[in-house]
Amino acid sequence: MAFDRWLPIWMRKDWMTAVIPSDRLHELRRREDAAFAQRTPKSAQMRVRASRHLPHGVPMSWMASLYRTPTIYVDSGAGAEFTDLDGNRYLDFNVCDLSMTMGFGAPAIAAAVARQARAGCSFLLPGEAAVSVAEKLAERTGMPKWQMTLSASGANSEVLRIARLATRRSRVIVFGGHYHGHIEETLLAEHAPRTLIDAFGLNPAVSRETLVLPFNDPAALERALAAREVALVLTEPALTNCNLVLPDPGYLAAVRELTRRTGTLLCIDEAHTFQFAYGGLTRQWRLEPDFLVLGKGLGSGVSAGLYAMTEELGRFFDEHFDVDVGPRGIPTGGTTYASALTVSALEAALESVLTEEAYARVTALGARLADGLEEIFQRRALPWRAFRCGPRSGYCLAPELPRNGREAAASLDYELIDTRRVFMANRGIWDAVASAGPQVSFAHEAHDIDRYLEAADEFLGALLGDSQRATAGG
Ligand code: PMP
Repeated sequence: MAFDRWLPIWMRKDWMTAVIPSDRLHELRRREDAAFAQRTPKSAQMRVRASRHLPHGVPMSWMASLYRTPTIYVDSGAGAEFTDLDGNRYLDFNVCDLSMTMGFGAPAIAAAVARQARAGCSFLLPGEAAVSVAEKLAERTGMPKWQMTLSASGANSEVLRIARLATRRSRVIVFGGHYHGHIEETLLAEHAPRTLIDAFGLNPAVSRETLVLPFNDPAALERALAAREVALVLTEPALTNCNLVLPDPGYLAAVRELTRRTGTLLCIDEAHTFQFAYGGLTRQWRLEPDFLVLGKGLGSGVSAGLYAMTEELGRFFDEHFDVDVGPRGIPTGGTTYASALTVSALEAALESVLTEEAYARVTALGARLADGLEEIFQRRALPWRAFRCGPRSGYCLAPELPRNGREAAASLDYELIDTRRVFMANRGIWDAVASAGPQVSFAHEAHDIDRYLEAADEFLGALLGDSQRATAGG
């Protein structure tokens, strides 16, 4: 999600300005910003107080940096909706960058977590629930050996470490448009490994070991792997942090074949896409990774990251177990990782919310959303496409869907997104992270999708000149 800040100006090729007059966009933005300020006076007061002790008024930078609208402060949430301090309600189509896709206050999760909080949040020892979570995940994904962290970032870091030791190699490959968490090895943009403006404070020695290649280009991968110096190829099955980039037919099979042939390990990061299909895209697309990473929404707001290994890597991990007193092994883990509280949230999610029926339902709703956006673009003669992958949709501001990170960058327009965000917010819809979504969550209903589409249509109508319904807050 940090991806959007990395884009050089030349990459922002603009299909959008060909059809949307920029003066109208600016005027709409001004009007909607004013309406937003008017609707959020209590948040504005809180921002003043908060800024005394919290940089930008927030305890974690993204809470301010993601939105480009002044920070609002939250009172509570229920289902797919949250309420701010001013009492404004927002139907959320990004649900915390997919980390709350089971909804705010999902009853089964809330009950399990409350029960566990009373019985003890953490013991630095496992209970039966941890065993049951690993069994369920193994059954769903086909991956046999599991470990837990606090986040997907943490899971990817541990995977990198294991991969380096297992292959005795140090290099890592990721693909342009990727995001795998704030870990040094992967905070690099395509073709600019040493000049990345986003990389303040990073250790250049670490990032020098990373190659960023174009997605959907097996020949480039083959060349990069030929020297057999790469420990790990780390990728999402479909790139979800730069709008959406789907793999070409056969591409992921080629990645698997090339990595196997050159003794390189393959990690599929399903921090987002585990929400796209039952068992993730790994199951749906019959992928055969060496490592699988999960996190985010699986904990339903209780911090959780997980990674899985093959039997063979599981044996290697066992052999290099890092013991407190005795021979050192691979340093993994942390005091608060895999707590009973986290595990209780995971177990409840897998048992009660993330059922095959629930995935079928959100997939159908995702199609309704994508069809609806596509219909609006066609009716309004916009040369754009709607993204679609299970519950995920989005605006591709170009006539062709992107095949790699660079094309994906050209299919985004930040001024349009920011204006859309504030326009939608003023109509009770939170359309948050610029390069991700809208996405249907497990808490959405069909009428929520229709409400989103109505507001999206109104927004585009306002931009294209049918001004009758474009009154801010209307
Ligand atoms: N992997 C992917 C594919 C992600 O999208 C993200 C977060 N957007 C992460 C890893 C990191 O997750 P977290 O911030 O929870 O560590």
